[in-house]
Amino acid sequence: MSQLVYKSKINKIRTFALSLIFIGMIIMYVGMFARKIQWLMLILFLIGVVCILLSCVVYLWIGMLSTKAVPVICPSCQKPTKMLGRVDACMHCKEPLTMDKALEGKEFDENYNKRRYRKNHAEK
Ligand SMILES: [Zn+2]
Repeated sequence: MSQLVYKSKINKIRTFALSLIFIGMIIMYVGMFARKIQWLMLILFLIGVVCILLSCVVYLWIGMLSTKAVPVICPSCQKPTKMLGRVDACMHCKEPLTMDKALEGKEFDENYNKRRYRKNHAEK
């Protein structure tokens, strides 16, 4: 059996925001070494600032998503987690969860959240 591990969407976005901060800091750090080439330093600093600002936006976005997420108790680890969309994974044990009874027991597929899939499914 393949051991595919699914990450909860909120956790995924959080990791993305955190890596953006680090990327921004690394770019600014590199910019310090390019002090002698002023235009390069300026560009690197600007990119760094944009990365950090972007991560702030992503954090705000997570905050808004969290209010829309449905809190559920994970059936496998009994811990409270939040779900986004029809299928998502538990934040703690990565157990695939579904809101849709029709999808229960089916293999976890990120495609269930895509609009096109839903449309195709409804037409059948
Ligand atoms: Zn769990």
